[in-house]
Amino acid sequence: MPQQIAIGSNSVIYFGRVMELLPRLIADYNTYVVSDKKVVKHHPELFENLAYSTIGQGEKHKTLKSVENLYHDFIAHKIDRSSLIVGIGGGIVTDVAGFAAATYMRGIAFGAVPTTLLAQVDASVGGKTGVNIDNLKNMAGVFSQPRFVICDVELLDTLPQREFCAGMAEVIKAAIIADKELFEILERYDISTLRQDKTMLERVIYRAVKVKADIVSRDEREAGERRLLNLGHTMAHAIESCDNNIIHGEAVGTGIAIATRVALDMGVIDEKSAQRIFRILDQYRFSIDTPIPIKQLLDAASHDKKCDGLDIWFVLPRRIGECCQIRYNLQQLYQQISK
Ligand code: NAD
Repeated sequence: MPQQIAIGSNSVIYFGRVMELLPRLIADYNTYVVSDKKVVKHHPELFENLAYSTIGQGEKHKTLKSVENLYHDFIAHKIDRSSLIVGIGGGIVTDVAGFAAATYMRGIAFGAVPTTLLAQVDASVGGKTGVNIDNLKNMAGVFSQPRFVICDVELLDTLPQREFCAGMAEVIKAAIIADKELFEILERYDISTLRQDKTMLERVIYRAVKVKADIVSRDEREAGERRLLNLGHTMAHAIESCDNNIIHGEAVGTGIAIATRVALDMGVIDEKSAQRIFRILDQYRFSIDTPIPIKQLLDAASHDKKCDGLDIWFVLPRRIGECCQIRYNLQQLYQQISK
């Protein structure tokens, strides 16, 4: 398996042991680390001899307030344009730290050490950073590629099973979008056997990252193809804004099921492929039904930043390894889903 994937000329995703890679990558910088308390508790070795701050855990801390607190810490630690910020944690840490780095002094260098499965295969790849506003997801943010990302499968050992399962939603998503073989590998495993088989898990993570990195390399600013990566996300963001107890990956799993149901109703996908998608979601423990009324979800979706008036880009699976985008009117979508 190759050890790295490049996005553009300045951003590299490394696969391997963080304790070997990180010291080399930060050697030339005055480095400041952002994390959360749980990650520091589980992986204290990563923080030895490094200055760091922690942010609160959970979506409610993915805010401009957390970013502002970080700016104060950066100033106190004399972080300047030649410094490097490193986010070590899940997607919340990498989104907030990446946004703070991209906006502090009009932007300084950033590196990410994602410590959740979801952050390794999705949140830290592709250069999107941001925070929530008024409980609406990622309403403020910037595109800014990290200098480096380190994906170390060993960091996932301490991850609670619920978080690990949630991360599988983004792996399944990548497989449906562009990697039929990855989908077939996933069909041969289940959550427990895959988690135990570290060699296969690392390969699976690599393949999921490759799907995203290839798409981002062709469409960094989401003008077209990158929107495919939103498979399941329109509904996921709506589910998350209606239900504070669900975590992002879980909502994505349900969002993929809704998109597949719409695709089936519209004749975009064949029955056999749709059933494989429902089966794999079930195999990796996702709920394929949402307890939230569809009308409420679509109301929430109308606040999505990707919603243009009442129209929204909706990604539908066409077959395993291929998706398409449809510009949909929310009213029309409501009729389709509530049939
Ligand atoms: P998270 O960051 O909330 O992490 C989940 C929990 O796991 C936290 O309590 C954290 O402290 C803990 N944790 C992290 N690493 C651990 C480890 N190794 N061992 C034990 N506990 C650990 O959640 P997440 O699922 O990683 O990220 C979700 C966020 O990512 C959402 O806000 C979502 O919008 C964002 N996201 C961003 C992008 C992007 O392109 N920027 C893409 C996908 C998701």
